[in-house]
Amino acid sequence: MFIGHFAVAFATKKVAPKASLGTLVIAAVFLDVVWPVLVLLGLERFRIVPGFTAVNPFDFTYYPWSHSLLMTVAWSLAFALVYFASSRDRAGAVWVGVAVASHWLLDFVSHRPDMPLYPGGGEKLGLDLWRSIPATFTLEGLMFAAGIALYVRATRSKDRIGSIAWWAMVGLLLALYIPGPWSSPPPSENAVAIFGLIAVAVFGPWAYWIDRHREPAG
Ligand SMILES: [Zn+2]
Repeated sequence: MFIGHFAVAFATKKVAPKASLGTLVIAAVFLDVVWPVLVLLGLERFRIVPGFTAVNPFDFTYYPWSHSLLMTVAWSLAFALVYFASSRDRAGAVWVGVAVASHWLLDFVSHRPDMPLYPGGGEKLGLDLWRSIPATFTLEGLMFAAGIALYVRATRSKDRIGSIAWWAMVGLLLALYIPGPWSSPPPSENAVAIFGLIAVAVFGPWAYWIDRHREPAG
């Protein structure tokens, strides 16, 4: 999943108003922050196999440290503890942890059965939503719309940047997401990992910037 993770970040702002949208975005995509680092270090592996799924060509052969269920729980707790230590926002810390954990559930729905339960073994799970472009677009699109609706109701812009920067991010996410299934395969596995890190380095600070120009509504 891609924009579905952002949908979770947007929606979480409603229940964790003290957490910056930047923190929520990084939480929701956190497993995909760990993953490219481990891929570049050679500790996790995937292959580009054109046609592997209808939506993308990624065959995730080995990613137990970033994407197993057990490690997801560990990353969620670690992220929530670091957030709590820096913010003292107890309720927000719980929701930030839930946002990290939600990543596993959404990937479980989308991926082929390649999601490990724990490093070193266990059954591999996945519901393979990516076999169908219409099903993927419908589910992820509805999630994205719902996340946007919740976010714009939970917050209001303090100035023009709060509105322009927010809608520009929504627009860029859609512009990156929609052509995906019809684009040519990426040049290499490492290029995908680097692009993933660049995306986090762009959208993370961008979301912090949006948050500074919006405030809780009502
Ligand atoms: Zn993922």
